[in-house]
Amino acid sequence: MNISEWSDDLDTTAAGEWAHKLMADLFPICRSITGNGVRESLAIIQKHVPVEIREVATDTPVFDWTVPREWNVRDGYIKDASGKRLIDFNEHNLHVLNYSQPVNKTVTREELEAHCFTIPDHPDRIPYRTSYYNDDWGFCLSQNQLDNLGEGPFDVCVDSSIEDGHLTYGELVIPGKTKKEFLITSHICHPSLANDNLSSVSIAIYLAKELAKLDLRYTYRFVFAPATIGAITWLAQNSEKLSNIKHALCLACTGDPGSISYKKSRRGDADVDTAMELVLSGRDQPYVVDEYTPWGYDERQYCSPGIDLPLGCFMRSKPGGYGEYHSSADNLELVQPEFLADSLSVLVEVIALLENSRAYRNTSPKCEPQLGRRGLYEKIGGTTSEAKTDTMSLLWVMNYSDGEHGLPFIAKKSGIPMEKLEAAAKILMEADLLDALD
Ligand code: ZN
Repeated sequence: MNISEWSDDLDTTAAGEWAHKLMADLFPICRSITGNGVRESLAIIQKHVPVEIREVATDTPVFDWTVPREWNVRDGYIKDASGKRLIDFNEHNLHVLNYSQPVNKTVTREELEAHCFTIPDHPDRIPYRTSYYNDDWGFCLSQNQLDNLGEGPFDVCVDSSIEDGHLTYGELVIPGKTKKEFLITSHICHPSLANDNLSSVSIAIYLAKELAKLDLRYTYRFVFAPATIGAITWLAQNSEKLSNIKHALCLACTGDPGSISYKKSRRGDADVDTAMELVLSGRDQPYVVDEYTPWGYDERQYCSPGIDLPLGCFMRSKPGGYGEYHSSADNLELVQPEFLADSLSVLVEVIALLENSRAYRNTSPKCEPQLGRRGLYEKIGGTTSEAKTDTMSLLWVMNYSDGEHGLPFIAKKSGIPMEKLEAAAKILMEADLLDALD
């Protein structure tokens, strides 16, 4: 089956529900940039797609960074003098500061407060905080919980380890007809947070599962890596593959109620940028397309100047752009199947457009070729306004078929629908005025 046949019949509602259920399976796991949480998550993913698990040892140099020591956590609590757990890692894994050092001692309230993180403006939410590169221990709790802890003293315990080990990432390749690749990446390092970024992990797995059934033009590579250091590690270890990447998307926060926002690649005119703008502008829904900025998610690494992949970042709400961001309110109620389905429908359309779109080379690029002599004016009809539009399609396709620009670019620039440009390209091919490129 080709992608058009599949996407025409796609039940996006069911797809959104499938992705939400997978999120629920992954949600309880305590993930971080290293450690067993990522491994456990990838093991669940392997039930659906044959993702390969890669391990990169601590201290491996990756560009200007090194792979950090591995963090694992088994338990964490704040107990009162009677031994009652007031704060318990088993109730919510956000309660332990991510990458907290181990601790086991009795502290005063004052000492404890210096190691507690809250969100005073949202007194019932637990914040998500990390301490990847600072040696510290700590707890995250709601302001209400902190206010009600009592006077102390308290027994505090974080049963964690930070030791030499590995950074873990997952990678899945779905072969297509060409070696040219479409890279889809999403970060997999956050603990029990739903929109950021299990929404995108689940959507990517759905896409991988379905694309694997199709006859594809591109080879698809899915990367599930921890944010920042995971992306840097993947890029450092796979630099020989980068020249094959023709299109790429970073997926982040794709399941919240916000409207879709897309950040273009650093290049600003990659085919994936054009395809995304075409698809979004063709829908009757609000959306935002932003120019590239070197801040946000892993596009910062994939679009660093020495890498500069044709990668855009597909989101609904932007990082920090929704109130529940990095807190216990980013949960399975915030993310709803309908929003996952909406994100998926856009991604499927973009992928289908890029799968089907070709770039061509004008074989007679010096001045306009003589269309009348070749009977091309006759071929596209008489003097009606429709025929005029079709003539414009021929002229646009010939002018921008310089080997650099594909049909999505021409569609966006001209405002002419893709179908008309495809028909024009077919006529020009038959007249030997165009060569199809890969
Ligand atoms: Zn985040």
